[in-house]
Amino acid sequence: MDEDGDAGREHRTGAEYARERDREDPLAPFRERFDVSDERYMDGNSLGPISDAAEDALERAVEGWRELGIRGWTEGEEPWFWYGERLGDELAPLVGADGSEVVVGNSTTVNIHTLIGTFLDRAERSSAEESSGANPRDRRGSDEPRGVLVNELDFPTDHYAIRSQLGQRRLDPDEHLHVVESRDGRTIDTEDVVAAMDEREVGIVFMPSVLYRSGQLFDLARITEEAHERGILAGFDLAHSIGVVPHELSEIGVDFAVWCGYKYLNAGPGAVAGLYVNERHFGETPALAGWWGHDKETQFELNLEFTPADDAGAWQIGTVPVFSAAPLFGSVEIVREAGIDAVREKSLDLTAYLIRLTDEVLADRGVSVGSPREPDRRGGHVALEHPEARRISEALRDRGVVVDFRPPNVIRVAPSPLYVGYEDVYRVVAAIREIIDEGVYERYETAGDVT
Ligand SMILES: *Cc1c(COP(=O)(O)O)cnc(C)c1O
Repeated sequence: MDEDGDAGREHRTGAEYARERDREDPLAPFRERFDVSDERYMDGNSLGPISDAAEDALERAVEGWRELGIRGWTEGEEPWFWYGERLGDELAPLVGADGSEVVVGNSTTVNIHTLIGTFLDRAERSSAEESSGANPRDRRGSDEPRGVLVNELDFPTDHYAIRSQLGQRRLDPDEHLHVVESRDGRTIDTEDVVAAMDEREVGIVFMPSVLYRSGQLFDLARITEEAHERGILAGFDLAHSIGVVPHELSEIGVDFAVWCGYKYLNAGPGAVAGLYVNERHFGETPALAGWWGHDKETQFELNLEFTPADDAGAWQIGTVPVFSAAPLFGSVEIVREAGIDAVREKSLDLTAYLIRLTDEVLADRGVSVGSPREPDRRGGHVALEHPEARRISEALRDRGVVVDFRPPNVIRVAPSPLYVGYEDVYRVVAAIREIIDEGVYERYETAGDVT
């Protein structure tokens, strides 16, 4: 154990050590399968790179279109009609769920809309049941509809979607969106989340698994347990953890979850998103209904009455975007071959190494670590803070180091274990040191845009 409490070995700081670690890394061969040739690609938590497997899967779908035309919906190796469910089966082990509880479809934002909408209605119904005496639990003042608990460091789209779902139910978002504040501007204290779970006001707690800026990993089990003790539903946005942190959603009893396909899952720009609904909620009516969520057996009878699928498939809406979904077959196969536990282990080790190098080399140069140092509170990326973060990020890109900048002062570095090695991390830190020491960033515009 080193002083940060990181399990595993004490990292040394020289370049030879980094090369040695790469040589003995069982996941090192996976790098060959990604097209990251001449770059140090540290942005896989925004957009993962293309892999041979993802490209092959996409090509097979294009070939299917060419050869089968409309018959591709029901024929061929992977009939498109079942893509959502089939990919749900593929992803289920990554979130620790049954295949029937997972489906791919829509975008993450749309999935937040439909699931928050669904469970707001559901929370409403259970309030009504409780106040009519169906449930003996005493909830004073429970006539008032219950809202959603989020936090102030969330990715904005989550709040936009939730506020609009509240508004559509004529609930004032300023009153019914309850926002847990951060004590340090970087992280959210679990105790503050728990303390804010007032069952008279909160029907759903919706938190990220990992905060997009600082990379803090939340305690999903504790939050879910505390929520359930109060009759509150627990949902999570796994955008920054799926594919890099294993989950046990069913075991924990999480009610619902959403995630993206294009971050650590490497399925390409605009890739289809995914969602999970615990089986105890099968049969709920989706807030945003569409024919793709209809019971598949009778979907093509084209009845005007909507009969939702009796599993998570019900939360699909319209036709699956085949070419935005196909690459996922390949990219998930790579994660499975590597093993999500091995991915997590290397990820924690790479981020620990990055933190160690930052302390050693960059701290004196005004760079500090904005991510939690405890392994069980850290996701897959590290936030490096510096007042010149924007210009340093630009200078890094011009040196072939791809990171991203998040205002006001964060450089996010995501050493994604499938294609990033120890020497890459070493080189990134060396590049930042040089950019600062030589004042390279000063050549960049102060208000330039980094996307
Ligand atoms: C990336 C991300 C999203 C993206 O949503 P889209 O609908 O795919 O644009 C949503 N929420 C979080 C927390 C994210 O990190």
